[in-house]
Amino acid sequence: MSSNNSVLIVEDEAAIRNGLIDVFIYHGFEVEAVEDGKEGLDKALTGDFDLVILDVMLPSMNGFDICQAIREKDKEQPVIMLTAKTAEEDVIQGLTLGADDYVAKPFSVAQLVLRVQAVLRRAKKYHVEVRTISLTQDRVIDLDNLSVSANNSNTQLTKREAEVIEYLYSNLQRPVSREELLEKVWGYNPELEIETRTVDIHIAKIRRKIEVDPKHAEFLVTVRGAGYKLITLDSQV
Ligand code: CA
Repeated sequence: MSSNNSVLIVEDEAAIRNGLIDVFIYHGFEVEAVEDGKEGLDKALTGDFDLVILDVMLPSMNGFDICQAIREKDKEQPVIMLTAKTAEEDVIQGLTLGADDYVAKPFSVAQLVLRVQAVLRRAKKYHVEVRTISLTQDRVIDLDNLSVSANNSNTQLTKREAEVIEYLYSNLQRPVSREELLEKVWGYNPELEIETRTVDIHIAKIRRKIEVDPKHAEFLVTVRGAGYKLITLDSQV
């Protein structure tokens, strides 16, 4: 990791907070750490951090509310949430509120460092020129405004959901594997074994937003044994 990155750690458990401080200092980060939720939000909004690490259960304000408040002000701020290992709903809620990724507690330092590197790398090699994608005539995804309009309703996408769609759209002619999405959209190193369900969770969330019936996907389809494929008006031409 490069030497001038700064991180804000918001975690009330002293043992975990101190462990995180050590890890980030070891990797050359400038570190600020607080234990209180509101104080964490204030610092996140007034400081200029390359990364914010957020616990969920915190005094005075929880990590979900902090994440949401950060996103309202700053769509780009990288945020990683620390969630309980067993609480899948925590993961889904955190990612829905715009966290870039999550690490389940108890976490290994190696896993955390991989996530951090990936989030900071943010390699975007696939920016597509077309910024609106028509699934049908009246079902349109707007990549810049992070929205899906269908019939008369409008649904917001998270930045990461839009990036997944953008990557699939840049590869309309073929299915894209989960591993490729992890590498290209999340920035994970393909050599390393990363334990994460983040792709599956994102695909499910995107389907809830873009499909007529999420259980019978017709736009973000699974190609058995190969991966995911986006079907749009363009792909049928
Ligand atoms: Ca806590």
